[in-house]
Amino acid sequence: MNALDTLVELSSQMTLEHAEESRGGLNYSTTKTTEPAKPGCYSPKSRSEFTEREQRAAFVHPAQLPNGKSIQLLKTLLSSACERDCFYCPFRAGRDFRRATFKPDEFAGLFSKMNQSGFAQGVFLSSGIAAGGVRTMDKLLDTADILRKTHGFTGYLHLKIMPGSEKAQVYRAMQLADRVSVNLEAPSTERLAKLAPHKVFIEELLRPLRWVEEIRRTVPAHKFWNGKYPSTVTQFVAGGADESDLELLNTTQWLMKNVRLKRAYFSAFHPILDTPLENKPAVNPMREHRLYQASFLLRDYGFELEDLPFSSDENLPLHTDPKLAWAQMNLVHAPVEVNLADKQQLMKIPGIGIKGAESILSARRISKLRNLSSLKKLGVIAERAAPYVLLDGRKAAVQMNLF
Ligand code: SF4
Repeated sequence: MNALDTLVELSSQMTLEHAEESRGGLNYSTTKTTEPAKPGCYSPKSRSEFTEREQRAAFVHPAQLPNGKSIQLLKTLLSSACERDCFYCPFRAGRDFRRATFKPDEFAGLFSKMNQSGFAQGVFLSSGIAAGGVRTMDKLLDTADILRKTHGFTGYLHLKIMPGSEKAQVYRAMQLADRVSVNLEAPSTERLAKLAPHKVFIEELLRPLRWVEEIRRTVPAHKFWNGKYPSTVTQFVAGGADESDLELLNTTQWLMKNVRLKRAYFSAFHPILDTPLENKPAVNPMREHRLYQASFLLRDYGFELEDLPFSSDENLPLHTDPKLAWAQMNLVHAPVEVNLADKQQLMKIPGIGIKGAESILSARRISKLRNLSSLKKLGVIAERAAPYVLLDGRKAAVQMNLF
């Protein structure tokens, strides 16, 4: 199998893995790249010189990085061979499909070529586990090392930390990558047992995340890639272990507060043929969406878990935006005076985001905000905010009719 065939095999299931802030579905033929070709050991091909098959082979996803920059991100595995038997996973041991494995230098060479051609600016690299988490992590680290040192790759690298990795490996990953992640898959030991009987929640999964934070607190940033600490993320299989949204968000909030998790990814459970969970019904993708909304409210908008509108089964309603549901319960009869509220109060109003709240604070230093059109000019979705605000003492909803 040549390297591109290997990439086809390995990338084909990676749509199940969420990484970075996706800006849509697959896009390997329509997005123009503006990155210049970089010098290196290969003669670069232009994007158009890749055959259609090569383009299809490369599962390059448009992704938005934490700094807001958009890139084409290759998501792949180093190997789809795995000795573990997680119940939901297409790569689980014993499942009958063709496995493929890259050697570290083989993958690094192929990716470097794609990068030089402008075909992909970043890579998210994970792997199935073979001969233990430590040995597999060594191979991921070797690959990253070859990419950075031999091929001079300076672009975005997200490295998955394998379950059971050692602290020195976590440290090394932080020296090579812009982002590191450990997939917790489930919110607790009990829930993980329903999904992955041979993964150990605390020792194998949570501990590496704690090490990342411990290292960030004790080692200066200049020791790491680009002189910055890598960000940390995790992923949950939402609904795979019959857990509630409250359980998922409780663990997410704990991670954000205690190990400075940048964000959690929620992947709505989807059954895979020939796995123990193949007959379990798929989870409504809207659940994924509501979990993202709620996690951003916890992370960025000053909401606490108890503010979120959980139903009696501890799940978020699927039909309502959680911020809107909170406002309907709390602000309809106690609208917020936009000219007096602090930033946190403003951000809790539907239609007002972080930037909108900051714009309101700046604008009202100059003059009072008296109507919805002035809110609109500040980037607020005024119609959505109207039922929940007062503008200089007057209910804004009444003013809606004036324009
Ligand atoms: S360890 Fe990872 S690749 Fe292996 S079966 Fe579990 S989830 Fe799949």
